[in-house]
Amino acid sequence: MTAQGAQRQVFIRTYGCQMNVYDSDRMADLLLRLGYALAPSPEQADLVVLNTCHIREHASEKVYSELGRLRDIKVERRSTGGDLTIAVAGCVAQAEGGEIAKRQPAVDILVGPQAYHRLPQLLAEAERRAAIRKAGKRLPGAGVLDTEFPVESKFDHLPAPHGVRAGSAFLSIQEGCDKFCTFCVVPYTRGAEYSRPVAPVLAEARQLVAAGAIEITLLGQNVNAYHGEADDGSAWSLARLIRALAEIDGLARLRYTTSHPRDVGDDLIAVHGEVPVLMPYLHLPVQSGSDRILEAMNRRHGRDLFRRLADRLREVRPDMALSSDFIVGFPGERDADFDDTMRLIEEVCLASAFSFKYSRRPGTPGWAMADQVPENVKAARLAAMQALLGRQAHNFNLSKVGETVPVLYAEAGRRPGQIVGKTPWLQSVYAEGLGRMVGQIVETRLVEGHANSLAGEIALQPERAREAAA
Ligand code: SF4
Repeated sequence: MTAQGAQRQVFIRTYGCQMNVYDSDRMADLLLRLGYALAPSPEQADLVVLNTCHIREHASEKVYSELGRLRDIKVERRSTGGDLTIAVAGCVAQAEGGEIAKRQPAVDILVGPQAYHRLPQLLAEAERRAAIRKAGKRLPGAGVLDTEFPVESKFDHLPAPHGVRAGSAFLSIQEGCDKFCTFCVVPYTRGAEYSRPVAPVLAEARQLVAAGAIEITLLGQNVNAYHGEADDGSAWSLARLIRALAEIDGLARLRYTTSHPRDVGDDLIAVHGEVPVLMPYLHLPVQSGSDRILEAMNRRHGRDLFRRLADRLREVRPDMALSSDFIVGFPGERDADFDDTMRLIEEVCLASAFSFKYSRRPGTPGWAMADQVPENVKAARLAAMQALLGRQAHNFNLSKVGETVPVLYAEAGRRPGQIVGKTPWLQSVYAEGLGRMVGQIVETRLVEGHANSLAGEIALQPERAREAAA
């Protein structure tokens, strides 16, 4: 906790997806501008922000248990005349703000994912309330709440980004979703689909590259539904945006996530074959391989579309690595539906995947569906699926052994002298290397393939790699 007159400190804990990582970075940018420094732990912070995720079961329980811990810190501080401001941001704040305010009165600020640009005003209000409390007066209501979807875009009210880590940065270009899959809370927590206009996206990308980014990952809940307005009033697709971003000098890698199969247009497929900086990896969630279940999920696509897209992407980019998401045990899923999903995985062959048991999310249509699948059935199906996905991922890693590939090193490994990075296909690589290689793309020979990673040997120093590429 900060001594009087010293710089205030903020600790931000991020749960969930890359969108939340991006949002946390932007909140940090905002708070740094207000004079805060980043604290290494809640114990050293004056303000703690929990940036929450609502996608998995028990997400809110994790938040409540963390809030209990923070409440204890706050009570202890107050006993010695200090204080701790507690803010809950993100999708749990959006979905369950009222409930959090009731259950944990120690929370000062609740702010949804579309409103965190208002943090400065919310903090000022929290400080005003803290002063009233200190003066011994009664405070009306619970915490400060801002979970509305404001009319203005948060992107117009945020400072320039600083979020470049070891050469990589996220850039949020699209938010929200209008698809209303019956298992998903995103349309309720992140609101309607919104694409940022082209000009600020290009400007932010240039800023990130100027700040040291050589890899940018474009983010959106439905990123390939992007239709940002250009200065001439036309709407740019994601493919067109990627072509423009690829022109930025110094940008070596582009990725985008997360996509919906229905929004993979011909132009996006073509761009994968024509833009070398667009990495040969695509995360394309399909969720199920059963047409009956896909319909119940309101996915608005069938298994064949996914198979066709995989074929077409590999036609234009033969080394394309595909990844996906699967939900096992959606209401009504029978053995035959699960077998269809397993067959689809075998047909398409994935480099990696995320698979989960279906969990009922309050407020979604899936919550009320009859024919919920028993937990033991879900667990058995998930184990079988993960065994298959694990074999495919391992085989994919083994298929690269012996190749020399560019690896973007991101951080030090667990062992001394070890560094960890990513191949173009988003595989993790461990190699003996120098600290100065972190944040650089280094040619690396892949020597061993494991279930979740590869072992590599540095083949060319970064300078030599640059010369070789020149
Ligand atoms: S498309 Fe994705 S974000 Fe939108 S409702 Fe479906 S799962 Fe959720």
